[in-house]
Amino acid sequence: MIQITMPLNFLGSVYREIRQALVDMAEMFDLLEQPAEVTDKPGAKPLDMKGGKVELDAVEFGYDPARPILHGVTITAEAGETVAIVGPSGSGKSTIGRLLFRFYDVTGGAIRIDGQDLRDVTQESVHDAIGVVPQDTVLFNDTIRYNIAYGRDGATFADIEAAAKAAKIHDFVMSLPEGYDTQVGERGLKLSGGEKQRVGIARTLLKNPPILLLDEATSALDTETERDIQMSLKAMGVGRTVITIAHRLSTIADADKIVVLQDGEVIEEGRHDALLTKGGKYASMWARQLAEEEDEAA
Ligand code: ADP
Ligand code: MG
Repeated sequence: MIQITMPLNFLGSVYREIRQALVDMAEMFDLLEQPAEVTDKPGAKPLDMKGGKVELDAVEFGYDPARPILHGVTITAEAGETVAIVGPSGSGKSTIGRLLFRFYDVTGGAIRIDGQDLRDVTQESVHDAIGVVPQDTVLFNDTIRYNIAYGRDGATFADIEAAAKAAKIHDFVMSLPEGYDTQVGERGLKLSGGEKQRVGIARTLLKNPPILLLDEATSALDTETERDIQMSLKAMGVGRTVITIAHRLSTIADADKIVVLQDGEVIEEGRHDALLTKGGKYASMWARQLAEEEDEAA
């Protein structure tokens, strides 16, 4: 018996790791559509997390060296700050997210977390430090309990419940006949976009990362659900560094800093009010969105 269980346990843990890696990738499909291309330096150490300061320092990058995408992008998020990145489609916003997650290495400049160059630390520790709330949370064909617990190895039921409460999905779960043991996913109960988002938020809360990366996290939802989810995301951001990539400018008006990206360059930066006063690109984006929202309401 002993001879047989050891290798089975071993296989089980390898299986779990592989599955985890696959799902991590699937989950980030929109933001991080490319599998890892970087390798750790020999003897690379894990990130030594302090407050979670994030710095992009004169970052240069192109997927293809012949076609540069980012040109000297400098963005600083102090520990605990919320920094929003906005800009037209194709300006390089998601690329910044992928670089922060170190799916690619920069070709010039540097990205640092708490002063440590991402190229000098293990990729795994970078992934542990950053929680991503994707546009569309992927659910496993398993129970709600499992889908939330996935955020952290060894989570207890009390942890799961606390995360679900904070993500405001607990009451919904309790209203189901089988509660946390309800099967979801393709073969189980189909959750709405908003409910899936909340499971994703609960999962991320359980992971408890010092840095959050949100890429247009709520764009697939109707306005009311989006407003609701935005409040949960905002609550989740307290005490963490948040980098948020936004389409709807109204959701980031209270960010500590807004960075406007265009053609891979930072063209404006500041707080909402200051950028409006400046009357530049951000101000015109804002005016256009107000007009669109009025059209929608009409
Ligand atoms: P945004 O998120 O602001 O819409 P992206 O960062 O997705 O912009 O894209 C910036 C530029 O990089 C675009 O020109 C896009 O075509 C290009 N790009 C994005 N992903 C890839 C990729 N995996 N391979 C090659 N080019 C890419
Ligand atoms: Mg994008």
